[in-house]
Amino acid sequence: MTSSPSPVSPFEPPYAADDRVIATRLLAAARLRTDQDLRIDRTATRLIEAIRAEGDRFGGVKEMLREFALSTKEGLALMVLAEALLRVPDARTADQFIEDRLGQGDFVHHETKSSAFLVNASAWALGMSARVISPGETPEGTIGRLAKRLGVPAVRAATRQAMRLMGSHFVLGETIEAALDRAHSARGPRYSFDMLGEGARTAADAQRYFNSYATAIDAIGHTTDDRPLPDRPGISVKLSALHPRFEAVSRFRVMTELVPRLIALARKAKAYDLNFTIDAEEADRLELSVEVIAAAFGDASLAGWDGFGLAIQAYQKRAAAVIEYVDQLAQNLNRRMMVRLVKGAYWDTEIKRAQERGLDDYPVFTRKAMTDLNYISCARRLLDLRPRLFPQFATHNALTVATILELADGNGGFEFQRLHGMGDALYAQLGQDDPAIATRTYAPVGSHRDLLAYLVRRLLENGANSSFVAIAADDAVPVATLLRRPVDIVGSPDHARHPKIRTPPDLYQPQRVNSRGIEFGERAALNQLLAAVAAETADVAAAPLIDGTAVNGVTRAIVSPIDVTSVVGQARDATADDAAQAIAAAVQGFRAWSQTPADTRASILDRAASLLEQRRARFIALLQREGGKTLDDSVSEIREAIDFCRYYAAEGRKLFGDEPMMPGPTGESNRLRLRGRGVFVAISPWNFPLAIFTGQITAALMAGNCVVAKPAEQTWRAWCSPARLRSRARSTGRSPPKTDRSRR
Ligand SMILES: Cc1cc2nc3c(=O)[nH]c(=O)nc-3n(C[C@H](O)[C@H](O)[C@H](O)COP(=O)(O)OP(=O)(O)OC[C@H]3O[C@@H](n4cnc5c(N)ncnc54)[C@H](O)[C@@H]3O)c2cc1C
Repeated sequence: MTSSPSPVSPFEPPYAADDRVIATRLLAAARLRTDQDLRIDRTATRLIEAIRAEGDRFGGVKEMLREFALSTKEGLALMVLAEALLRVPDARTADQFIEDRLGQGDFVHHETKSSAFLVNASAWALGMSARVISPGETPEGTIGRLAKRLGVPAVRAATRQAMRLMGSHFVLGETIEAALDRAHSARGPRYSFDMLGEGARTAADAQRYFNSYATAIDAIGHTTDDRPLPDRPGISVKLSALHPRFEAVSRFRVMTELVPRLIALARKAKAYDLNFTIDAEEADRLELSVEVIAAAFGDASLAGWDGFGLAIQAYQKRAAAVIEYVDQLAQNLNRRMMVRLVKGAYWDTEIKRAQERGLDDYPVFTRKAMTDLNYISCARRLLDLRPRLFPQFATHNALTVATILELADGNGGFEFQRLHGMGDALYAQLGQDDPAIATRTYAPVGSHRDLLAYLVRRLLENGANSSFVAIAADDAVPVATLLRRPVDIVGSPDHARHPKIRTPPDLYQPQRVNSRGIEFGERAALNQLLAAVAAETADVAAAPLIDGTAVNGVTRAIVSPIDVTSVVGQARDATADDAAQAIAAAVQGFRAWSQTPADTRASILDRAASLLEQRRARFIALLQREGGKTLDDSVSEIREAIDFCRYYAAEGRKLFGDEPMMPGPTGESNRLRLRGRGVFVAISPWNFPLAIFTGQITAALMAGNCVVAKPAEQTWRAWCSPARLRSRARSTGRSPPKTDRSRR
């Protein structure tokens, strides 16, 4: 690695700070003077009128984007179809998939809304195909099958056509040469070219994307004139395209493998004095991205060049901290940096991810007005930090543009940016109002194969009912509504959060608390967990438990599936006698347990969940050492076990609790019918030794049964059979551990 250590301390602000605290700070500084507000109203109104006067200049594509928004079943089906066509290699599977998806959408009602021929043709073909093959309408028989065969090619043609339409709308060219030709003939704005492709899955993918960036930089560089930065073209780079493991847990690889690649590309861009911007991606990669950027930017070979830049997302609660960090970085290195401020394109993903991972809170705001408020606050700060930072305001929102123009106070030193295929009328009006305002167009380049992820974000943006472009295009919405200031919409810190978006821990309330997860992208939390797991070094000895008492006996060594020479603990297997005793104990305890009030049974399961949560590090250590699980899988497995306990406790309270229930069909009450049935034997599979084991037991216990449980025999056989150990030891050249009955 050639980069020098970062000249600033690590970037570790709170991952998901309290919205109220942020709102208090933002609201206090958001009010402008009346004369400023009046000027903003005038400018924004003019821009909105221009957008509304634009009409359908794009052959109906924008209308189609709204028609097939991702919030509709049809939009989703269309994307899934597109994906199927791109990635499913054999036609038969693709066709089956197509039939399945079309059955879920109401394409037939999308036929005639657009006036544009091509859009109509696409919608018609999709609609027709859906009609021909939708389940229930197509009888099983010769005619049906024939219709099916006729329908599927039509679907393929329609989907391809829809993708081509949208692709040609959002992509400047399939190759960098074609894109450069188009850009030069357009003359006018600056360009930042984006080579489509992200989220490399393999080293070969990453190499392909690297080559594509490198070739593009050469091509762009060769066609530039001698204007100085910032009035020069640029390239936008996604770190996720440059490494297949661009994730927090692979930090070492990222810093040693990705950073040199990034520096190599940056040096190339420097050679042509281009603008080189690193796009902003998901929130869990922010800390890592900042570290990568600091390491690359700090490389001595890049000194004397002002074109290095990054994108910052204002929907992230850490946006202000990133600005302060990069400003400090630039200051310490005595360099300039270009900073693109965006609101952020992964909002839905961020919300879903935080819920799915059971985080304490969201790293992004949940109200759009908070994002807008933060955007303006960040814009103000960036304007203050000129010229060390060169602000690039990327937005298609007329009110945001008008506010920034007011805050910039006629002083230059910044630019506005739009995406190719969006914001045309707004930016044309901006140019007419004041030709001195600098603008840049972000221009994706590539084939349809790499378009999908980008297109999904554009569909979300164009179809969302909170999105400025969607509302501005709707004449029924009064201009005054579009001029409402974020500060007025939020009003008070108490309204900083969206009332309907629960925090991840409360997702299943009032039934139950969600199990707590961890964000590996928050380094402090990850390090804390790793330290706790590493501290779990105590010897492990497992033995059968009968009625809560461990049974002594001959033990055998349990070895690690990763390193068969390492003993992770001792286990004493149950004998047939033990099993008989366990069953006898369970039979004896059944009456008392089944008569224990449901609420008491549920409370015991809740307590088990809390204990599992408290002892998370211990269970992770066990799952990793004995089961060979990754950290991520271990955390998921423990969370599943905890959720099982709480889920059955909550369901059990409902079914067996004290509230009166409806009588069953024979007049008896449900509660009477839902009684414990006796003793259950549970044998859990080897691959989820904690989660499924817990799930089986807790369900039966909650229902008032007693349980005798054991893991599947394969759990240890898979790793520890003497033959297997001998063969593994042979292949590793080490002697096998003693698995004989050596300890009592
Ligand atoms: C030149 C350019 C480059 C870009 N590069 C990037 C990039 O590197 N990384 C990236 O992520 N995006 C990038 N984008 C996409 C950008 O994030 C979106 O285009 C932008 O958010 C749209 O904002 P707007 O002001 O045009 O529209 P608006 O309609 O005013 O804002 C829409 C945005 O508000 C936010 N939002 C919506 N609902 C909520 C909610 N309930 N709570 C909180 N926030 C909400 C979202 O960020 C949404 O995108 C880029 C855009 C441009 C123009």
